[in-house]
Formats: sequence, structure tokens, C-alpha cells
Amino acid sequence: MTEKTDLYPTDAELSHLRAVASGRARPDLIVRGGLVLSPGTEEWLERDVVIAGRHIATLTAWGHVADAAAEIDATGQHVVPTFIDAHLHIEYTNLTPGELARLSVARGTTTVLTDPNGAANVWGPRGMDLLLSTRTPLRIFQQVSPTTPASLELERGGAVIPEETVRARLRDDVTATLGEGNPFDYGEVSTGRFREALVAGRRITGHTAAQTEESLWGYLAAGVGDDHNSATVEEVLERTRLGAMITVMGSSLTDNTVPLFADLDAIAPALRHMCFCADDKHALDLSTSGHIDHHVRQAIRFGVDPPPRLPHGYRHPGALLPPRPGARAPRALPSGRPPAHPRPRRGAALARDLRGRGRRPRRRRAVREPRSDPRLGEGHRAPARHAGARRVRRACARGRGPGPGAGDGDVQRLLQTRLRRAAGRP
Ligand SMILES: [Zn+2]
Repeated sequence: MTEKTDLYPTDAELSHLRAVASGRARPDLIVRGGLVLSPGTEEWLERDVVIAGRHIATLTAWGHVADAAAEIDATGQHVVPTFIDAHLHIEYTNLTPGELARLSVARGTTTVLTDPNGAANVWGPRGMDLLLSTRTPLRIFQQVSPTTPASLELERGGAVIPEETVRARLRDDVTATLGEGNPFDYGEVSTGRFREALVAGRRITGHTAAQTEESLWGYLAAGVGDDHNSATVEEVLERTRLGAMITVMGSSLTDNTVPLFADLDAIAPALRHMCFCADDKHALDLSTSGHIDHHVRQAIRFGVDPPPRLPHGYRHPGALLPPRPGARAPRALPSGRPPAHPRPRRGAALARDLRGRGRRPRRRRAVREPRSDPRLGEGHRAPARHAGARRVRRACARGRGPGPGAGDGDVQRLLQTRLRRAAGRP
């Protein structure tokens, strides 16, 4: 079983990291010559990635460190952090953590925050530990399931986890957040649990489905820091205005990537406070549509300008850049085959998708010149977006596009249909 502290460097590893970063020890590995994405400033940096053991020690200018035990040549490549799933129930995938890693790590998702509420119900704390354990490169952080069982009347015969166990787990090294809880529980026990999470420095995961006004305000007032149920632009904006982070859900049952990114202009003010989660996604869907790479492709397809804004720790996993000028980023970052440095053409991702299915659009629609973007101030311009994506957005706005629940396939089919019509084909 993975020790919880494996997620952090040991004392010896920390000493080695500092020695390598300060030039007093030889790096174990250097990734040389790539353009490295800075999650802090969103710049592409001409840096080498200097690695000590299993951690990144620092980023240096190209060629600054002459020697390393091993090297990877990243010349002509983009080097980016990997994706984080901000909320997932691993047991709902029907996979063990190791089998999930076989699907997800290869697609670029290397870290998940998991609320093991199903396993807790069946097997108590041992079930929760089982879903936090893997020897694969998948890093798993815990979202402590708050109440097991959630209903004493409806759920009988399973495990009952005492409140003191829940509160103790909030202080586990591996804990990232308190898991999703009942918005309507105003009792002393749940209120005390919220406070315990805040004192322990853990975020509180929200489940605000369709809540408005007083019920929403009362829930967020408990310190709830994020929400993965926002299914409309209005819900996203309201929760963001109140200080919550949005984790855009792309599950087997409900894919909110389509309704939320369909009107990019409307949702733009919240983009910096959004990240991604799968929540409930079955193995079959993970293997076909993908994991967080699915969210990223959807966002780019609807016109969000890459690169995806990558995590600040676990707090903003996979958050996205708003449209901005001059982005020179790959269109499909998680492909495992990073594109060369030259900037991508608009709509290239769509065309590549179509070619992948044996079809080629006969002609591309002309792309509009960049238009000025008042949100960005004088002299800044938002990028033009692909005509197909614009049509899908308009169709969604008229209620004729893929609605909530539409997956990659639905969107792709709609785009293909629109492109065929635009090209004068049946
Ligand atoms: Zn959930």
C-alpha cells in the first residue's frame, strides 16, 4: 500500500532537491531545450527542467547546467505540467486506482482528488484507504467523505463511519479537501465539521446542484470553496461572484463542458476561476472520450485559446486562460506528441479531428480578423474563433445544439454536419 507521505519529499529528498537547485549537486535528469509553460505567469519560457530524483528542482536558462546523469532533448517541443482532476469518485469508474492510471496517466491526467464515498459506504475507512492506494504514477489526494451513510433511513447494512474518524482524516497528509456534503444540513455536527476543515487548512468541496439565493448563500457561508454542479453560465457566474471556484463536470451522465463553453463571451469573466473534474465517469467513457484531456479538447473546440491554464497546486487544476492576444500554444496539448513551435492555425484541431475520421473539409471558412476585446483593454485583441464552433454556440443558444449530456461525439457530429453544409455537401 502506498504510504500517504509518499506524496511529499522525504528529508533526504528535500536536501537533494536544494543541492541540485543551488548547483551543488549533479541533476539526475535534465529536460533540455523546450519551451516550458509557466503556470504562474502563463508565459512560454526558454528553460531547461532540472530534476532531482522524483521531483523538479528548478527551471534554468537553456544550457545553464552543463552536466546531468541523464538528459531528454525537448528541442522544438512544449513542456507543460500534467492535468489534475479536481473531483472524482474512483469507484464509479469501475476501476481500481491502478487500472484507472492505465487509462488516465497516458492521457495526461496524473493527479486526482477523490471522494471515496461509495467505498466508504461498503467497507468503511479500509475502503477509503483502498482507493487512495496505488504503486502507479497516478497521484491520489483525498476528499474526506463527510457522512457515511449519508442517510440512516435509506442506506442500511453498510459501514457507519464515526464523526471523529472523519475529522481525524481531515488532517491526513494526503487530504486535499472535505468531500461533498449536504447543502441543507444546518446542524451543529456538520457546521462543526466545516469549521474543522477550515482550521485544518483544507478546502471544502461543494455540491450546490440548482441551489439559488438563500440556500446557495447559506451553503457557501459555511466556507464551501468550490462547486462541480454548475450547469449553466448563470450558475457559474453567480458562484464565482460569491467567491467559489467552479470545477466543470464532464461525467458519463452529465457533460457540462458543452453548455458552459458554448457561450464563451458570457462565461469569460469566470474562466480564471474554473477547473475540471470528471466526478462520475465510467471506464468505457474514459477509454473513448478521455479524462481531463476531454475537457481541454472541448474548451479549445469551442474557442478557448490554448494553452490551458494549468494548476496552481491543486487549487486551480486545469483552469483555463481567457481569450487573449498572441497565444502561441499547441492546440492539443495532451496528445503525447507535442507539436512543433510554430503557432497553430485557427481551426486546426477541428480539421485534424475530421481527418482522423477519414474526412477532410472541402474548404475552410475564412477566419475573421481578430476583433478588439473591451475586457482586455485598449490595444488588446481577442482571437478569432473557428466558424464551426461559432455555429455550434449559436445553435446551443437557440436550443438546437448539443445540450447538457452531449459528449465529444455529439459535438463532433454536429460540427461535421455544419461543415458539410457550409461546403455545399448533403
Ligand atoms: Zn461527486
